[in-house]
Formats: sequence, structure tokens, C-alpha cells
Amino acid sequence: MATGRPTAATGDGDQVAAVRTGLSAATHVVGVMGFPVAHSLSPLLHNTAFDHLGVDWVSVGFPVRPGRAAAALVGARDLGVHGLSVTMPHKEDVARAVVTRTPAAERLGAVNCVADAQGVWLGDNTDGAGLLAALARGGHFVPAGRRCLVIGAGGAARAVVAALGDAGAAEVVVVNRTAGRAVAAAALAGPAGRVGTADEASGCELVVNATPAGMGDVEGGPSGWPVDPGLLGPGQVVVDLVYHPPVTPWLAAAAERGATTANGLGMLVHQAALQVERWTGHEAPVDAMWAAVTGPGGGAPGWPDGPTG
Ligand code: NAP
Repeated sequence: MATGRPTAATGDGDQVAAVRTGLSAATHVVGVMGFPVAHSLSPLLHNTAFDHLGVDWVSVGFPVRPGRAAAALVGARDLGVHGLSVTMPHKEDVARAVVTRTPAAERLGAVNCVADAQGVWLGDNTDGAGLLAALARGGHFVPAGRRCLVIGAGGAARAVVAALGDAGAAEVVVVNRTAGRAVAAAALAGPAGRVGTADEASGCELVVNATPAGMGDVEGGPSGWPVDPGLLGPGQVVVDLVYHPPVTPWLAAAAERGATTANGLGMLVHQAALQVERWTGHEAPVDAMWAAVTGPGGGAPGWPDGPTG
């Protein structure tokens, strides 16, 4: 086994918690609250950032059982925890339980980041901003004035739709298996949002799959594609929010047809970077965080010119 900090690229899912030294009673503790949580890459990303910033902070996993998020928030405050990343199944429960919310968290009704705000918990949601930061940095894609299509209407899709609307996309077309959820998701983009159909993808400059449908028939995934790859090609940025496997069959098919493609690692890295910035007040070392989840020299798979863009 390789020495040093394990990475996502090693596949050692149980060993992604970094080995840290120098921890003490003065160390600031944060963590990711989820269930299950042992395979989360968030502590690896946060701890990589803390190492590079030279701050005395540590991130760990908190396996909080379903229905216990509100109690965990109270306990975390009493224990002096400095912040929490929040993942499945707690994002909505935490949105209800925190004292204050950022506009993004308020609108989505979902929180993925909890921070101390003068003695009370503030709930934020960095998922959508994380994807936009990844698009700008790695893919040079800025949504303002662009036509975008999002497949899905779950938590990830809603965050992306709202962020694209906020960023001034000309149109945010939402396509989802369950029509009613598509209507609610599209509304998050304001006047730019509307429900549409998958065959509209050919006219869009950005296509984001926020469903598991890109797996195709492999890895136990569903059959069928989120969008016919024949509708995708040069001049389009195509993102599958899945990052395991790193290239879904659908993403591979889009790349074969000439689209610029990327997986969900960009969203994962940048949403964590925004959490680090909210907690510490320091600019996050995004290149180092990218390297932590892609391996030494691994760069950012799928982006045209790597993580520094
Ligand atoms: P979610 O809230 O459960 O929503 C799932 C969405 O996928 C719903 O819109 C659902 O449609 C749709 N869907 C599920 N199975 C489908 C199928 N067989 N065919 C077509 N549509 C299907 O999940 P989520 O949290 O939004 O996550 C969605 C995807 O994004 C997952 O693949 C997840 O791994 C990925 N993700 C990535 C990141 C990242 O940082 N990269 C973060 C979060 C999530 P209905 O509404 O009809 O049920």
C-alpha cells in the first residue's frame, strides 16, 4: 500500500481519513454529519486544506442516525465543534433545525454546511456554488447568458438549478422523471427556469445530469440514458454529477461525440472548499484539495486543462 495520505484514487474507501499529528485540546474540530459516513471524502478534503493553510483544525466523520440531526446540532454546539458539513440524509432536517440560514439554504430548504455565527448555528448550502466554481475554474464555463439543461429534480439538481438562475443563465431547462418535482425545481431558477424535455439538450451549452441514470446498465445502475448522447457534441459542456465511477458510460458517450465532459468531483471539491472558507476565513487551497482526491499529479479528470484552468 502506498504511504502517506490515502486518496480517492487508491480506492481505499475505508482509509480516506488522513493521518494527522499535532492534535491537541486546542484543536478546532469540524466534521461531516451523515449516515452512513465512513466513506465520505469530506474529511480528506477538509484536512488537506487545513494542512496547507497551516491551521490547527481537524475534520472527522460523525455517523448521525436518521432523525437525530437536530439533537446532534445541539450536542455539537455544547461540545464546541466549530462547524459541520452535512450530507445524506440530514440536509433538510438541518435546514429546519439551524437558527439562521443563508439565502441559498433558505430557498433550497437544504443545508450542507453549518458554521458558527456569533454563538448560533448558521446553515448554508455550497453545492450549487461549488459546481459553478468548478465550471469556471476547470472548464472556463460561465453561465451568464447561456442555455442550460439540468436532468433531475432532487437535492443536487435543485442546488444546481438555483445557482444557474442566480448566475444569470438565459434559460435553465429542467427535465425529470417525476413531472411535479421538475416544476418545483425549475421555479428555483426564477424567470429563467422552465420544465422541458431531454431532446432540448442539443440546443443547450451546458447539460448537467443530476440523476444516477448516466450509469447505464453497468454497476447495477438503471437502464437508459438521461439524454440521448446523439444530441450532445462539440461546443457543449456536459457534466455528470456522479464521480464513482469517474467516467460514467453516458459521460464517455458524450465525450466520444466531442462534448467537453466532467464528472462530479469538481462539485465535491469546490463545495468543500467553500465550507473551509466559511469556517476558517481563509482562501481554500483548491489545487491541493483536487490532488487529494485524484492522486499525485492526477489533476482534474474530464476538464480540458486540469484543475487550475
Ligand atoms: P435525490 O435527491 O435522491 O434525487 C435523485 C434524482 O434522480 C431525482 O430527480 C430522481 O427522479 C432521479 N432519478 C433517480 N433514479 C432515476 C432513474 N432511474 N431514471 C431517471 N431519473 C432518476 O439525489 P441527489 O442527492 O439529488 O443526487 C443525485 C445524483 O447526484 C446522484 O447520482 C449523486 O451521486 C449525485 N451527487 C453528486 C454530488 C457531488 O458533489 N458531485 C453531490 C450530491 C449528489 P424522481 O424525482 O422522478 O424520483
